[in-house]
Amino acid sequence: MTSSINRREFPIGVAAAGCPLDATDSTPAVQTTTGLAEPVFCPLPLGSIRPTGWLERQLRTQAEGLSGHLDEFWPDVAQSQWFGGNAEGWERAPYWLDGAIPLAWVLDDSALKEKVKRHIDFIVAHQRDDGWFSPYPADANAKTHDLWSILLANKVLAQYHEATGDAKVLEAVIKNLKAMQQAMDRTPLFDWGKFRWFEGLIPVFFAYERTGEPWLLDLARKLRAQGFDYQSFYGGQDVTIPTARRGKWTYEKHVVNTAMALKAYGLSWRLTRNAAERAFPARMLEILDRYHGQVTGMFSGDECLAGRNPVQGTELCAVVELMYSLEHLISLTGDAAYGDRLERVTFNALPATFAADMWSHQYDQQVNQVQCTINNEQMWTTNGADSNLFGLEPNYGCCTSNLHQGWPKFAARLWMRTAGEGIAAVAYAPSAARFTVGGTPVVAATETDYPFRETVKMTITAGKAVRFPLLLRVPAWAHGATVRIAGGREEALKPGTFHRIEREWSGGTDLTLRFPMKVKTSRRYNEAVAVERGPLVYSLKIGENWTRVNAGKPFRELPHGDFEVRPTTPWNYGLIMDEARVETSISFSEQPVGDRPFSQEGAGVVAKAKGKRLAEWRLDHGWAGDVPIGPQTSSESVEEITLVPYGCTRLRVTEFPLIEGA
Ligand SMILES: [Zn+2]
Repeated sequence: MTSSINRREFPIGVAAAGCPLDATDSTPAVQTTTGLAEPVFCPLPLGSIRPTGWLERQLRTQAEGLSGHLDEFWPDVAQSQWFGGNAEGWERAPYWLDGAIPLAWVLDDSALKEKVKRHIDFIVAHQRDDGWFSPYPADANAKTHDLWSILLANKVLAQYHEATGDAKVLEAVIKNLKAMQQAMDRTPLFDWGKFRWFEGLIPVFFAYERTGEPWLLDLARKLRAQGFDYQSFYGGQDVTIPTARRGKWTYEKHVVNTAMALKAYGLSWRLTRNAAERAFPARMLEILDRYHGQVTGMFSGDECLAGRNPVQGTELCAVVELMYSLEHLISLTGDAAYGDRLERVTFNALPATFAADMWSHQYDQQVNQVQCTINNEQMWTTNGADSNLFGLEPNYGCCTSNLHQGWPKFAARLWMRTAGEGIAAVAYAPSAARFTVGGTPVVAATETDYPFRETVKMTITAGKAVRFPLLLRVPAWAHGATVRIAGGREEALKPGTFHRIEREWSGGTDLTLRFPMKVKTSRRYNEAVAVERGPLVYSLKIGENWTRVNAGKPFRELPHGDFEVRPTTPWNYGLIMDEARVETSISFSEQPVGDRPFSQEGAGVVAKAKGKRLAEWRLDHGWAGDVPIGPQTSSESVEEITLVPYGCTRLRVTEFPLIEGA
């Protein structure tokens, strides 16, 4: 469907390049965006990409878990002020919608769509004449009010408009943005709104691309001018210093703000056209990796940036927000490295912090996580004793409401449009994308068990012969990658680039991509060794004993209870490994990918290595002690140990001390 606003009021062909407003529509795109630089790739409208294979199973599990039911029992969403109730009226209901909308539309789940529609219709119907939504305090004009939840709500409504074309929803966004523009003159951004100013650019740009109204760009400039200056902050020393354990909480080093801010200057580059701004996110990631990086592609933050120690935590909100930032950065820059990073976070950090049924989650996950208990001796920077539990709202309910966007937005951004009416595969997972080229319907589909397999089968099906470019991301780790088109000869692909195939596509054309996954190791905190293969990180498989806790607390009826997890098998192993010839030290074998691909039982790959236990490596403060600096010696006997993908574990050792000799 098409917005009723865009094509009527503005002339066709204002700008030559850029994103079609509706790729499912055969009419030429209207471009009103002369005021904004164009992204390299454009996301397809929500609902154009359907998950298949393991990804569909994963998303169904999510819809049948907390995401599809949170609004039925959790007061902060069920009785939210956004929906006419008396509970929380801030970020929680908009957060839930931000994930429930793409979940409903990527799955084409009519019951979930209906539920979402009811909530959105309520918000729009209760917008006040002055443009504010109903939870905004009636006297807010006379006082200060943090605009963060309003920035978020407009982003959510814009997403709903993209999915449905519902004109009244876009009109509601525009009306609210107008009110916001005036409010920001009275009360400049502060607190959360100040540190998340760039999230406001998303609905502002969305509205601008559909109306061409110049005041929207003034509003975008105002957001940027009043927002926190991350570029200066990342030029200083403070960001390089891990927050002290049980230390001081700050907005500047808040891990969720950090994950969100990664896209800030990519977005603002569209406004300023300053190339240094578009280059800044790569610099920011480099600093985060150097001082706070974790092997999962995340950085620590529990809840402020906490250094490289693998027992410091990473908050779930930061995982889903980093994914969303990376999806924007791929679109804005066309840089394949952001696709590699997106897969690393999605296939490792995301699934590992949920129970396999996606009813419970953690607040903080650890890379070396050997038990998850209510822990009053915890050494987080600022989080509390419950943060490591798998539960309904461990520590604080932000993750409970914000976790939903991770998988569905990933599914909705696997493919993006390119110049010349082309299509780019920016990340790989089983899926089918529908789009049109010059009015001809085309389907691009992948059939694969990647990331558990090296091969991706792809079929491009065109209704009639059409010419357009197909761009394939070649991961930087995939040395020896090849593609074979329509049974032709194998062509070599260059790692770390997008490979471009421009040809006439007619009927169904099969392609086979092969991304050889060679095992490699990296040295990390305390010289510890981590094992990676392709996009997956590997961890020690540990037996788990799940115990229910907090059963008497409100809303903890099963299936959404709280659980502690304790190990039933030893975890304190060092690795015996020839780092120069890692492939001789670890063997990998494929297994069927299970119904729940990110569970111990469903793991599609298992590895065997050799290790020895280290008697002196024990629990400390209820956590795995600091990794002993290797190479260590041990008089214990050599054992064969099993490693599984990080995303399949809930208890794990991922950064191992090295053991001398065999
Ligand atoms: Zn959170």
